[in-house]
Amino acid sequence: MLHVAVVGSGPAGLYTAEALVKQAFALDVPVRVDVLDRLPTPYGLVRYGVAPDHKSIKSIAQYLRKVLESPDVRFVGGVHLGDDVTRDDLLSVYDAVVYATGAMRDRRLGIPGEDLPGSFAATDFVNWYCGHPDVDPSAFVLEAESVAVIGVGNVAVDVARILARDPAELAATDVPHPVLEALQASKVREVHMIGRRGPAHAKFTTKELRELGELPGVDVVVHADEADLGRYDLAGSGAELVESDRRVRGNMVAISGWASAGAASGGRRLTVRFWLRPVEILGTDQVSGVVLERTRISADGSFGGTGEMETLDAQMVLRSVGYQSVPLPGVPFDARSCVVPNLAGRVLGSEGSPLPGEYVAGWLKRGPTGVIGTNKSDAAETVRSLLADLAPGTGSVAVPRAGLLKYPAAGDPASFADSPIVAMLAERGVRPVSYDEWLRIETAEAELAKTLGRGERVKLPGQAAIWSACRPPEDSRLQLLPGAASVVHPPPPPASPRPARPRRPACGHPPRTDARPPNPRPRRPPRTPYPDI
Ligand code: NAP
Repeated sequence: MLHVAVVGSGPAGLYTAEALVKQAFALDVPVRVDVLDRLPTPYGLVRYGVAPDHKSIKSIAQYLRKVLESPDVRFVGGVHLGDDVTRDDLLSVYDAVVYATGAMRDRRLGIPGEDLPGSFAATDFVNWYCGHPDVDPSAFVLEAESVAVIGVGNVAVDVARILARDPAELAATDVPHPVLEALQASKVREVHMIGRRGPAHAKFTTKELRELGELPGVDVVVHADEADLGRYDLAGSGAELVESDRRVRGNMVAISGWASAGAASGGRRLTVRFWLRPVEILGTDQVSGVVLERTRISADGSFGGTGEMETLDAQMVLRSVGYQSVPLPGVPFDARSCVVPNLAGRVLGSEGSPLPGEYVAGWLKRGPTGVIGTNKSDAAETVRSLLADLAPGTGSVAVPRAGLLKYPAAGDPASFADSPIVAMLAERGVRPVSYDEWLRIETAEAELAKTLGRGERVKLPGQAAIWSACRPPEDSRLQLLPGAASVVHPPPPPASPRPARPRRPACGHPPRTDARPPNPRPRRPPRTPYPDI
């Protein structure tokens, strides 16, 4: 049996698990995949990155669910690499480890005022409206009338849309109830989305951009000079992009339309600006504005500032200039490109040669680019590398470095219940979250939606509610606050007797008990020859 750990249960991790099951079956290699996640909930960015009003993209979770329910795959939630287990631990109990932890950190602007109250990473705002357990549901109070969103990628479009959209349209989504209430109380009237280059250089995709123009009661405004392809681009690079790139052409149709549009409806206003880069965020104890410098591309093709400044009134700034991966303890990391150095998914050591048993997939492998589906082909490549490394080879597959992974013996009786990682964690008093425990969270979300009369599910607000749903204390008595949506549970069970370890910064959760949980998971169906995933 080939035992593989996939670290990260987002799209990259679950497409990797799927590719492992399918490709291994085709090669007649028996495989078991443990998908680890630091959170008690699976699906990563599909759950905590895709905006609540993008229901069709969120439905990818239904596909990924089938992967998790495959008899050869198991969810091992609430386990943090670097805290609960180390890289060496994983390598000692698995034949191969695939790192797929994505890109969790925001990139910085590096300008004065960036850390003023009121200046936030868009990733924090996204986490907030997606109900990420790391973010307090009351973290954002939308007192600002004018918000500056820096960046013109799809994340900037998402946050601008959520700020501008009538919150009534979010009532039937899974947005946490305190977030919906904060959006209902929002004082935001103006949202400015600011690109440092021209409209042809913007990263957003046409479908997402067009959606801004379809928001009821929202006026989209573009300045005519900034939409003019030649005005600040003396090298003509924007015009060339329009010629060569269909996405850019689509974007320009929408942008030119807004630039020439007339009368406004008097609702919220969303202004898309170009050729302006932020040089300072103003304010003393709170953001009050942003100084922007006009930029241009010179005839020789060089990009830079013109020295012409303007000050934008804004009481809130969302920095949406891309994500970055964070290094995993002990795993090679290229600090310049913020990815794990790799060759077709094989992790490379400091000498530049592949490390036995270590692989990488997704944004951690290639950087934060592409749509969710891009991770499928990316994962398939990593898995091809992994299976090609089996010794003595799989026959029909070229084996470029045979012998780095032990070829699994057929009929190995190892079962999920006896997974070596579960035993190792139990010795440390760590009880991983099972798939069934995750399903309890799903059920609680559906019940909350019913109670509130809101759609199919509503995300539970905050860590305590999530952990209580997942592992209700035995004496749990649900109490509904008068007039409020929050479900309050009694305090979590007493702390584990295991020695205290440093508290993880991002994903704290109630202390675990050291008892290994009875496995309430129903018996899995017998392994199918080719699971339909
Ligand atoms: P992104 O697409 O890389 O966009 C980053 C934006 O920030 C660009 O406009 C970039 O401008 C700008 N920027 C970078 N550094 C800057 C600086 N110092 N000052 C001012 N502006 C700066 O990143 P993203 O929006 O975070 O998206 C990440 C990935 O997720 C993308 O692949 C995206 O398509 C995907 N995503 C998709 C969806 C969807 O399909 N609905 C939703 C969300 C995210 P330059 O081009 O000039 O560098």
